[in-house]
Formats: sequence, structure tokens, C-alpha cells
Amino acid sequence: MPSPSQQIARLHSLIPEGVKLLAVSKFHPAEAIADAYAGGQRLFGESRAQELAAKAQVLPEDICWHFIGHLQTNKVKQVVEHAAVVESIDSLKLLHAVDEAARRAGKVVGVLLQVHVAREETKFGFLPEEMTEAAAEARHLEGVKLLGVMGMASNTDDQSRVASDFKAIRGCFDSLRAGVMAGCEDFTVVSMGMSGDWPLAVECGSNLVRIGSDIFGVRNY
Ligand SMILES: *Cc1c(COP(=O)(O)O)cnc(C)c1O
Repeated sequence: MPSPSQQIARLHSLIPEGVKLLAVSKFHPAEAIADAYAGGQRLFGESRAQELAAKAQVLPEDICWHFIGHLQTNKVKQVVEHAAVVESIDSLKLLHAVDEAARRAGKVVGVLLQVHVAREETKFGFLPEEMTEAAAEARHLEGVKLLGVMGMASNTDDQSRVASDFKAIRGCFDSLRAGVMAGCEDFTVVSMGMSGDWPLAVECGSNLVRIGSDIFGVRNY
């Protein structure tokens, strides 16, 4: 098995320019992250509050952590302390909790609205028709900066289904950008694509891919 930094170098040779790589390090030890860091990677994704806190405390401060898991409001404070971006904003309640925790901590946290298009994968996220209201709400909050959208495709071998999910996520981003987020220069991020489906996600308009197992190997959980 090549090292994480070797895998990242290989991915960078494949991923087109303009598409960022989030190294999803959940369930992998700090040593693996340190190897990727030594190779120049700075963008890492975690999905559990305590795990993020534990790793952030022992790893370099210039790592940019994205939180990508379902977040309960009682864990928000811990996540806000460490994460630059919370990608998994899936309810108005969570949006407001992150805003409040960020303002209390005297910071501004980047957020992505998670859109729910996949059929079976997860019940989390806003429906496409709920996105405008959520974005309009987020725009006015001082503790968060709305940077874009995040989503997952259905977990299926049916490539046309996966492509149509990705296009629906990208479509949500485009209509927000043309509508309620018009003129917001920071609203730029379309986070979609994982180890198994990122090339298709990029074809469908992703500019941030979240890759775990292709970098760190299979997770034991
Ligand atoms: C775990 C996870 C990933 C990475 O998945 P891999 O298949 O290991 O690349 C991406 N996005 C989210 C939201 C995840 O939870």
C-alpha cells in the first residue's frame, strides 16, 4: 500500500486544475495525517466531533479542517473550535447553532448547505426546494459564511443515476448563485465526489472532492 502522501500525489496528477482535494482522514490515526501533511496536504475532513478535536490538538495548526459528518447540536461548540468549514449543514436548527457558537467564539465559520438528492443513502440534508430558504437565512448570519453546497450521490452501480444526482446538486448551487446568493463572491464551492465516484462528480461540476479510502486505505469500523 502506497503512503497517504504518495496517494495524494497520484490523485493530484489526475484531478483537474480548479478542483480541490479534501483528504478524508476519519478513523485513521494522526500519524497517517502527518504523512499527508508532510507531503503538502493541508485540507482534511473529519466526521466526528471528538475525533476532530483529538487530532486537531496534536497536529499542526495550519491544517484546514472540514467537518463532513452529521452534527448534533450538543457537539457544535467542539466542532466550531477546530473546523474552518462545516460542510454538513443539514437543518436550519444546526445552521443557527453553528452561527451562535461561532459568534460566541469570536469567529466566522465557513458552511456548506448539504442537499439531499440520493434516494437511499442518508436522510440528512435539505431538499432542493428548501435550499433557497436555507441560503436566505444563512446570508444574514454573522457567525457563518455560506460558501456553497455539499452532496452525495445514491450508492448504486447505475452511473446514469449517480450522474443525475450530481447534476441535481450542481443545479442547486447554480440556482442559488443566480438567485439568493447573486453577487456573493465567496459562494463558490460545490463539494461532491468520493473515492468511488469523484471523476464523474468532477464531470458534473464538482470543485471539491472528498476522498478517504483512496488515500488512507480501507477504514476499520
Ligand atoms: C467518509 C466520507 C467521504 C469519503 O469516502 P471514501 O469513499 O472513503 O472516499 C466523503 N464524504 C463524506 C460525507 C464521508 O462521510
